[in-house]
Parts: sequence; structure tokens; C-alpha cells
Amino acid sequence: MYTIDHIYIDGAFVTPHGTERFELFNPATEAVIGTVRLADAEDARHAIAAAKRAFDAFRHTTVEERIALLRRMHEAVLAREDDLFAAIREEYGAPVSRGRWMAKHASSVFTDAIDTLRDFAFERRMGTATVVMQPAGVAGLITPWNSNAGFICGKLAAAIAAGCTAVIKPSEMSALQTKIVTEALHEAGAPTGVFNIVTGRGDVVGAEMVASPDIAKISFTGSTAVGKGIVRAGADSLKRVTLELGGKSPSIVLDDADFAHAVPLAIAAGFMNSGQACIAGTRILVPRSRKAEFEAMAKAAVEAVVSGDPGDPATEVGPMVSEKQWSRVQGYIRKGIDEGARVLAGGEGRPDGYARGWLVRPTLFTDVRNDMTIAREEIFGPVLSIIAYDNEEEAIAIANDTSYGLQAYVHSADPARARRVAARIDAGRVLVNTLAHEPKAPFGGFKQSGLGREYGQFGLEAYLEPKAYLGL
Ligand code: NAD
Repeated sequence: MYTIDHIYIDGAFVTPHGTERFELFNPATEAVIGTVRLADAEDARHAIAAAKRAFDAFRHTTVEERIALLRRMHEAVLAREDDLFAAIREEYGAPVSRGRWMAKHASSVFTDAIDTLRDFAFERRMGTATVVMQPAGVAGLITPWNSNAGFICGKLAAAIAAGCTAVIKPSEMSALQTKIVTEALHEAGAPTGVFNIVTGRGDVVGAEMVASPDIAKISFTGSTAVGKGIVRAGADSLKRVTLELGGKSPSIVLDDADFAHAVPLAIAAGFMNSGQACIAGTRILVPRSRKAEFEAMAKAAVEAVVSGDPGDPATEVGPMVSEKQWSRVQGYIRKGIDEGARVLAGGEGRPDGYARGWLVRPTLFTDVRNDMTIAREEIFGPVLSIIAYDNEEEAIAIANDTSYGLQAYVHSADPARARRVAARIDAGRVLVNTLAHEPKAPFGGFKQSGLGREYGQFGLEAYLEPKAYLGL
């Protein structure tokens, strides 16, 4: 049993003022594996004060000094990769390949930030003015459970690159990962107060950060509902906000696509991170003229996906993070059936052979209409919908008929055609015949998928305020 009873403020591990204990689970077994003592609003205020004090000096650091710190952070987190991988598997249930990627990603974001920082122009001439990019102030960084370590490190790397100090409020459900990352970052020897990590409840610690006049900027990754609440609560202090929220991403399979390539990619896009991914391609748009062919291949592909023990290398889909999330996904599968969609593969309940663990059967619906609940709401589990279209115009219209706009996928044998279609999709990223990630490119959403961008130069600018000097 793990007992986590420290938070990190002003360069030291301290006992929280908060006394609430929160249970941590292994989602593959449903067993309680430990408890974490949660911070409260007073702890948040201490952390904010420490970050504010540290900002006075840190804002004046040179790019070279910040690169050196980012490099030490990279090395320190990299050195804990195996521990982080084990924690991600135990506490989150990520399958081996995904867990490895997540553990590596937590350190690689620091080198990505270094690359961005090297090329960034903090001073530019614009007309008669000299424009400088000045760090915004103390940043409040709030992360979800579906990639907690990666989001802590990615947001912190961007804040540090900009010269901001930070208060981090990780997901309370990911305390093992947070502990390992905090220990690693402590080893990197940042000036005290530059980053502070306070695990607590969102509506307590998170709300205190959003309301604080001493926090200039919030970077939040999580649900659209909480993101909207942050905009409202941050309005009084005109908080700068970056929001990375939900999605209902389309995979548009054009009628010239090579299905031998498109089907496995579309299924993998839908089931990435066990379906608990904001960028999951959950609406698969298929030409009606080739629907039967696509269905047959996709059914076979989904039936071959192993949902099970995350420790087994054959597993591609691990358990849902919590009982609540498992019940939510089951509710959506039921809703899809009730609304008249046809189950091609999977369905309700656990995969065969499992009586415990928050495991879901990888599920593929067809005959889905875009106005059905399963096509409109983010399920955040391995549940995909095939939606048929009659022509390219209709495919584009269906793809854009969503309140979200985070990512889209286009499959076609003709790159020029794919480009024309991609140009008409309202989404922050469009991936053509690939599932690749590019850390130098902006990441974020149109419409209700968010505000602003992370990664690369756009991500760095989100922590900076432009200031123009005239007459100099
Ligand atoms: P969530 O919104 O419930 O929680 C996210 C974080 O916000 C947690 O740390 C939580 O404690 C905190 N929080 C909750 N209430 C708060 C409040 N009132 N003020 C401040 N902070 C508060 O989301 P979740 O369930 O942890 O994560 C799943 C969601 O995250 C999904 O909707 C998913 O789409 C989204 N997500 C988006 C991206 C992206 O980059 N766009 C990436 C991963 C996950």
C-alpha cells in the first residue's frame, strides 16, 4: 500500500494543511493500492505565494539558463522512466506499449521545449517599434488523469521556457505518477518556488488557483464542462487561459482509400490510450458505396483487439481508469443500442474471462446517424461509430457537424484530394493517412475543444505577453 502524504512547495516536500485522504486504485484489479493526503485551499495559497516570490528573479533569467534547467529536468525525468512506466501501468492501467510511450513522453517534452526556445525571437522589430515578449507571471497548470505525468511535464516545460513560475494541480487520481515526477524534478535543482505541486481536489485547489489574482495564467487540460467553469471563474481577474478540452474527432475514409491501410489506422485512432484520448477518432465516416466492405474489415480488426490485463504485451486496450468511467462507457453502449445503432463488434459488459477490472469490450457500432448521442458526446472509452455518407460534400458536413474541433483524420489514395478535404475541416490538427505526432506543431482545438494552443512556438507564446517599445 502506498501512502502519499507530501506536497511540494518552495523547493521542499511538506505535509499538506489539508487532511482529506483519497484512495488510489489499480483499475485492472479494482484493488485499493494506496491513499493520498490531499492539499486544501490554504496549501494552494502557500504554493501561489512561493511561485510569486520566485517569479521576481526567474523572470530575468537568460534563455541559456532556462535551457540548462530544462536539460536537467529532462535528464532527471528520463532517469525515472522505468518507475514512471510502472506507476502508469499500476495506477492508470495503460497497456505496455502505450505506458512506455507515456513514460518517455514525460521527459521528451523538455527537449522539445529546448528546441522551441532556441529558435524563438523574444525581441522583434515591428514598424518603428521594438516588441519584446515578456513572461506572463505565475502559471497555474491543471492536468487530467489520462496522461498526468506527460501533461505536468509538458505544461511546466513551456512555462519555464517562457520564464514563468508555476503552481501545478495534478489529477488527484494520478498521485503515484505525480510523486515520481515531483521527486525527479526536485533532483533537477530548480530555484526554490519556481515550480510547486499541490495534489488536491479540482473544486478546492483548482478553484483557488483560478480565483487567485496572483496567478496570471491557467493552462488546463480536462473536460469541456470544467474548462467552461474556469473561463467563468477566471473572468474577474481576466485570467489568461489555455484550454485543452474534449473531442469527437472524425476519421474521414474517402472512397479511393486503400482499406488495407485505412481500416487499421482508423481503428487504432479510435482505441488509442484505451479510448481515453481527447483526440480519439471516434466517428468513422465511410462512403456508402463501400460500407459493407469497410464493415467486414473493421469488424474483424476490432474483434482481434485484445482488451485485458495491461501487463500482458498482447493487450492493446487496458481498463478504464475508474468504476465511474467504466459505468459511463457502459451507459453509452446501452444508449447506442437503444437509439438504434447496430453492434458490429463488442457490446456491453467485460471481455470474456474477466470478472473484475474496469475492462470494456472494444465496441464498434454501425448504422450510426450523426445526431445519435454516441456520435455527439465524448464517450472516453473504446467505443467507435461508423457513419455512412453519400458524397464528399456530405462527409465534410458530417465531420464538421459537432461542437468539437480538436483533431481529424483523412484517409485517401490521392494526397491533393486529401489536402482539399483537410482544408475544409474545422479542427486544430488534421492527420492524413497517419497517426504521427509533431511536437513542433501547435496542438489544440477549434470550437468547444478549447482555447489557444500548446506545443512549439504557439505553446510558448501562450505564456508570454507582447510589449511594444516606441521611441527607443
Ligand atoms: P476533469 O475536467 O474532470 O478534470 C481535469 C482536472 O481539472 C483535474 O485535475 C481536476 O481535479 C480539475 N478540476 C476539476 N474541477 C475543477 C475546478 N472547478 N476548477 C479547477 N480545476 C478543476 O477531466 P478528467 O476527467 O480528469 O479528464 C478527462 C477529460 O479531459 C476528457 O473530457 C478529455 O477529453 C479531456 N482531455 C483533453 C485533452 C486535450 O488535450 N484536449 C487531453 C486529455 C484529456
